[in-house]
Amino acid sequence: MGRAFVYVILGGGVAAGYAALEFTKRGVSHGELCIISEEPVAPYERPALSKGFLLPEAPSRLPSFHTCVGANEERLTPKWYKEHGIELVLGTRVKSADVRRKTLLTATGETISYKILIIATGARALKLEEFGVTGSDAENVCYLRDLDDANRLVNVIQSCSGGNAVVIGGGYVGMECAGSLVINKINVTMVFPEAHCMARLFTPKIATYYEDYYTSKGVKFVKGTVLTSFEFDSNGKVTAVNLRDGSQLPADLVVVGIGIRPNTGLFEGQLTLDKGGIKVNGLLQSSNNSVYAIGDVASFPVKILGETRRLEHVDSARKSARHAVAAIMDSVKTGDFDYLPFFYSRVFTLSWQFYGDNAGEVVYYGDFSSSTFGAYWVNKGYLVGSFLEGGTKEEYEAIANATRLKPAIEDLAELERQGLGFALAA
Ligand code: FAD
Ligand code: NDP
Repeated sequence: MGRAFVYVILGGGVAAGYAALEFTKRGVSHGELCIISEEPVAPYERPALSKGFLLPEAPSRLPSFHTCVGANEERLTPKWYKEHGIELVLGTRVKSADVRRKTLLTATGETISYKILIIATGARALKLEEFGVTGSDAENVCYLRDLDDANRLVNVIQSCSGGNAVVIGGGYVGMECAGSLVINKINVTMVFPEAHCMARLFTPKIATYYEDYYTSKGVKFVKGTVLTSFEFDSNGKVTAVNLRDGSQLPADLVVVGIGIRPNTGLFEGQLTLDKGGIKVNGLLQSSNNSVYAIGDVASFPVKILGETRRLEHVDSARKSARHAVAAIMDSVKTGDFDYLPFFYSRVFTLSWQFYGDNAGEVVYYGDFSSSTFGAYWVNKGYLVGSFLEGGTKEEYEAIANATRLKPAIEDLAELERQGLGFALAA
């Protein structure tokens, strides 16, 4: 049994949705494009799962957040794919790939062949078991990567209003979920091994602002330690978590956000890997000419940084998807992907954006006791990164533009004096 397509997108997440839209803009014919996804629903904006989806009042639910609604483009509902002649093979895991034969074998036993393959398999959440802790299967231990996870989390949240949650991990999932849990009137304690939250991006000074804000909302922080084991009741439900520092925290709900691993497994030994992802060139093309990789799973050359990076963020998924399709459909006119890294988060009434790279010396600006402040990173004499909390649309655009220009900075004190004005004038 088998089907053949010109283009196959493997994975049905954010990058797949944006790639599909770009294919239709560039004139793909009916029946040429197929998307295969393990998830049972058409591509959606994954960021909604830790934000609107978890709200107690008027939560976001599909179909409202199918891609590409997040970028104010068309909303790609299942009907849209049908109308555009795009085959959606949902609820179907690809279990092996043969890039020499150009075939994919699904768990249902179907062989799907392609002329061009776009790998958009994203990533999976790291499990506690990978750190030697058992108990991830307990009904009140939640991860958050896909819709199933989010539905499960919502059910547990609804069953423990007024109860205690322990959030493991101080990264994006930890911070955004902790905020949502507070909004759901759950008492939250965050546990992470670092000295402060968002340790890979925030400086201690920036982190302190957010931690103080969270503390004012009732969140407690237990830093510099990790979970070592769970306590269970007779039904196998977690009742408490034990920490390496010897303390114990009661728990009606545990949310785990301890990082991800890109889904490269199908291609190991077949394609070149780098930085944990599938290595691609500036056209998002892998070491095999017929295979492209986009989104979380791709390690691509970030021109402005002069090095290959794998980025785990939605803007990079959207833009790498568009660029790969442009390169596939018009390789002559499409130049190398020139991407400015962009990360953001929104929680409570807070909202920040970051552009570029957080390397070098940090210059702060604005008033950290107010709601608008930020920082620049200056590396080897050039501005390479910018952060802003509480900015307007124009201000965020200004820090993005200034970072893209990579201006020479001779005087850090002068940059500090000018603050946000430096970006606005750039
Ligand atoms: P994904 O969206 O993960 O899609 C991968 C798809 O491939 C999935 O559908 C998966 O089921 C499928 N798949 C994998 N393997 C197979 C297989 N073998 N067979 C079939 N299908 C397969 N980023 C931001 O910048 N801002 C945010 O606010 C933000 N919020 C987030 C909130 C949450 C809860 C999560 C989990 C992530 C968030 N992100 C955010 C990150 C962002 O969602 C990802 O960077 C983005 O989804 C990556 O897109 P992708 O298409 O590469 O991968
Ligand atoms: P992150 O990598 O952001 O954070 C993981 C955190 O958990 C790190 O602080 C990490 O510390 C810590 N950690 C690692 N191991 C342990 C452990 N055993 N016990 C306790 N803490 C541990 O990953 P998340 O899981 O938060 O997010 C998953 C993915 O979702 C990421 O790709 C992220 O980009 C994406 N996402 C993005 C959002 C956004 O952009 N706004 C929102 C939500 C998710 P260390 O650094 O020391 O490893």
